[in-house]
Amino acid sequence: MELINFKTGKLDIKSLSLTELKAQMEQIGEKSFRAKQLYEWMHQKMARDYAEMTNIPKTLKEKLEEHYSYTSLKEVCVQTSKIDGTKKFLFALSDGNLVESVWMKYHHGNSVCISSQVGCRMGCRFCASTIDGLERGLLPSEMLDQIYAIARSTGERVSNVVVMGTGEPLDNYENLIRFIYLLNSEEGLHISQRNITVSTCGLVEEMKRLADEKLQITLALSLHGATQEKRCRLMPIANQYPLDSVMEACQYYFVQTGRRVTFEYSLVGGVNDTEEDARNLCRLISRYSTDYAQPFHVNLIPVNPIKERNFVESDKREILNFKNKLEKKHINVTIRREMGRDIDGACGQLRRHILYE
Ligand code: SAH
Repeated sequence: MELINFKTGKLDIKSLSLTELKAQMEQIGEKSFRAKQLYEWMHQKMARDYAEMTNIPKTLKEKLEEHYSYTSLKEVCVQTSKIDGTKKFLFALSDGNLVESVWMKYHHGNSVCISSQVGCRMGCRFCASTIDGLERGLLPSEMLDQIYAIARSTGERVSNVVVMGTGEPLDNYENLIRFIYLLNSEEGLHISQRNITVSTCGLVEEMKRLADEKLQITLALSLHGATQEKRCRLMPIANQYPLDSVMEACQYYFVQTGRRVTFEYSLVGGVNDTEEDARNLCRLISRYSTDYAQPFHVNLIPVNPIKERNFVESDKREILNFKNKLEKKHINVTIRREMGRDIDGACGQLRRHILYE
């Protein structure tokens, strides 16, 4: 098992399933009902440490300290948007690395956007998370901790989770899958798979592997360009995966799971927002749709300019034109509400702000 804490070299207790935890309790000579108690403390009551676990005897707590690592996050800073109440958190992991998470309030419930890696190695041109490359993947517990810390801090229920913060979730595949099962587990927060979204830049093999898991989560593909050439200009990773193979993987996901795939399309002024771009996107989507099934949904996102790159937003009229073009072809399309623009809302901005300024 690769669930070892980076700092302590010990097994990471919060990343274990209830069944695995039971086996561990047996191994250290404890009764198996302790596993259920511990699991609930970790994943329902979201305890920050063993000290909070009032019905666990002191001797067992000592044993746990000796054998396992217990991750928890330190809140480094929180910014609250004056516009929409969105909160952006910067957390320190136990090894001192920093990750960002965002809390958003919607009419249909509260959403948390989490990071899946420290940094990222995918290199997307407009994204601040990738500028310094990848440091490491997060443990399942460290993904959960972001949600637990935010739930505790806001005192509100989390109903949706999106893995759209820093990092490429499918580049941390095993830990991501384990995280989903833990988050979805009845003895934990029990967040429905349908309320979990995973966003990828398009790692084809892993997308297919994910489809074969037959989960009910939503897969979001960062498309950002409707031709191979356009996509390569914005996303270097596209060089490795021809657009057709990415589209086929999306179609496969839909066939295997019955879940409609979301295309994220960040509109960059003058780069991918022209009439021709809209036409190409319609064409691309229609090639993979039938009269009976619309396997995709397009989410247009006004690009969030980062100061390290000279990309600009499309103007409002351009964005509406783009949307209308798609609607005329009966494509499902929405414009993403911009949240937290005043608080370094885009991926990786806050971390860089704190690290380098
Ligand atoms: N690696 C994954 C998930 C993280 S990024 C992925 O690529 O999907 C989440 C989404 O935000 C992606 O669609 C990404 O392309 C987009 N994004 C990153 N920086 C952005 C910016 N400055 N403006 C608009 N969208 C951005």
